[in-house]
Amino acid sequence: MTVPEEIVKAKQRLVKAKQRLCLGCLECCRRLLFPVKVPPMLGKSDDEATRAMIEFYTAHGCEARGQLSAAGVAYVTVIAPVPCPHLTAGGCDIYADRPDVCRRYDGRLDPVLKDVCRWKEL
Ligand code: SF4
Ligand code: SF4
Repeated sequence: MTVPEEIVKAKQRLVKAKQRLCLGCLECCRRLLFPVKVPPMLGKSDDEATRAMIEFYTAHGCEARGQLSAAGVAYVTVIAPVPCPHLTAGGCDIYADRPDVCRRYDGRLDPVLKDVCRWKEL
């Protein structure tokens, strides 16, 4: 089935608008964000274990936030001040070949960056 031309053009316009907004932002390329499940710690409650994890990552120069998943699982989001080596003043230097995780990322859905992601202007 052929996709109607106006839909193809609308998609291209959306991709270009996203690229423009990203070039004025680049926040998700400036740091490394990853979730770490809080492991059970002998003699500690979930809250105490979460605080211990936050202290650990903070002591290593990261920001860390305790969160609960939708399923009620305790995890810590670690925000490491490590910019991607492919980030340049003009944006991503491997943009056409960037990793799939970068292609799929949507900052509007990220609890840490949702307030700064410029895609909310779309
Ligand atoms: S946070 Fe959003 S607007 Fe900013 S670079 Fe990442 S995806 Fe683009
Ligand atoms: S590879 Fe490119 S898009 Fe992905 S984090 Fe690095 S600079 Fe950003």
